[in-house]
Parts: sequence; structure tokens; C-alpha cells
Amino acid sequence: MRDRPHSGAPFADAASIAGPSDDDRFMREALAEGRRAADHGDVPIGAAIVRDGSIVARAGNRREVDADPTAHAEIIAIRDAARALGRWRLSDCALYVTVEPCAMCAGAAVLARIALVVFGAPDEKAGAVRSVAELLDASWMNHRPRWRLYPQLRDEVERLLSDFFVMQRKSRPEAD
Ligand code: ZN
Repeated sequence: MRDRPHSGAPFADAASIAGPSDDDRFMREALAEGRRAADHGDVPIGAAIVRDGSIVARAGNRREVDADPTAHAEIIAIRDAARALGRWRLSDCALYVTVEPCAMCAGAAVLARIALVVFGAPDEKAGAVRSVAELLDASWMNHRPRWRLYPQLRDEVERLLSDFFVMQRKSRPEAD
């Protein structure tokens, strides 16, 4: 993964927020949120916001249950973290999410000044970190979060998604 200097407002060293040794723990928390999302019929994607080695907010995708196209796990977790901390600037926080963020969520991570984004599986169709766009590396962004893929739980992340879509097809065969 690329390593590059930060620009813009000062913020904590990403390594002090969450290092690679923390990835397993926090990605498992995000996965648990993803599982809960499936319980209400939402695509099982989960996220957690980490600060000082602990979770300040966690959320699953709620697009279906809230009938809200913006209710992605990352957006909800970012909002909740900002509310919990009483500030919009999350420059001392890391975002863990099971699947590579889309353009909206990568954009929100930039706007929130998130220091570090860690995701569990790439999204070849819509991922805006490295798959279809590289928003976190865009030179025109006023803030560039560091990011890394944490591939050790990728199989679990992808199995959760594929099981969900198989179940959906079974329950709604006419949709095919
Ligand atoms: Zn998204």
C-alpha cells in the first residue's frame, strides 16, 4: 500500500489511532455490525469508528430498513462518532469497514478528516478507494486519509455477502 505525507489540518499520527495489530479486532466488530444489518434485510456491510484504541461508534447498513439511499454503514458511523465526540472533525479517528467504501462514503471520510480507512474486501464494482476510483488519493482533495486493505478476514466478509444474496434470491425468486 502507498504511504504518503498528510496535507491540511494537523491530526494524530494514524499509527497511534489503530495499528495493523488492531485490525483483526476492529474488523471483527465491523463484521458483527454487518451481520446485524442482514437481520433487517440490508446488505450486510458494517463499520466502526476507532479512537485511542477503542470504538466510539459502530453501525450497519440501514438503507432498506430506513428507506434511505444514504444510510450506508460508514455514513451512520461517522455521524454517530461526530455526535459522541461533539465535533465534526474526526482527524484522530480511524474508520473500519467490511467492504471498500463507495464514492459517497469515501467522500464523507475525507470531509470528516478521518485519519485512516481500513477495509476488509475490495468492491470491484463501486469501490472508490482503489477499484473504480481513488478518491482518498485524489490530489484535489483538501485532506487525504491513509488507507489499507485488511485482507485476513476477506473470506468472511465475502461469504457474508454471498450468503445474503443467495438467501435473497431464494426468498424472492420472481426477482430474477
Ligand atoms: Zn457507501
